[in-house]
Amino acid sequence: MKNNVSVDMQELKESLKQKGYKLTPQRRAIVDTIIKNEGKHMTAEEIYDEVKKDCPEIGLATVYRTVLLLEDINLLSRLDLSDGCSRYEIIHEDEHHRHHHLICNECNKVFEVEEDLLDELEHRVENKYKFKIKDHNLKFFGTCDECQKKNN
Ligand SMILES: [Zn+2]
Ligand SMILES: [Zn+2]
Repeated sequence: MKNNVSVDMQELKESLKQKGYKLTPQRRAIVDTIIKNEGKHMTAEEIYDEVKKDCPEIGLATVYRTVLLLEDINLLSRLDLSDGCSRYEIIHEDEHHRHHHLICNECNKVFEVEEDLLDELEHRVENKYKFKIKDHNLKFFGTCDECQKKNN
């Protein structure tokens, strides 16, 4: 799993300002919650449940609006799963390509594959289709180790 997630708050403030927004305490609390739960791929509702603990006055609508805003300024990336929920995670600037996701159909947990593994495939696609690839997005659906054990 990833460690030492850091979001440059000054940079975040700047990006928000360019869009005409401020880093309000509520928005800050939402960002902090997402940082604290890095790797969990939380839905807006899950973020809301967490952030409410520190910020009881916050509303779900604020969380929805804020994650959209953070997506808009490229701090967050949205991951749409087959269950119809959107999950969010921080985009790491040092990540050349986004990591891949393993999605368990039973417990809906999301696991990350850190290795890229697609270099060769990309070269072949680029050569054959004359397409310059910038990124890719790969999801694997199946049953996680824990759920397999439970099934036995
Ligand atoms: Zn599972
Ligand atoms: Zn991820």
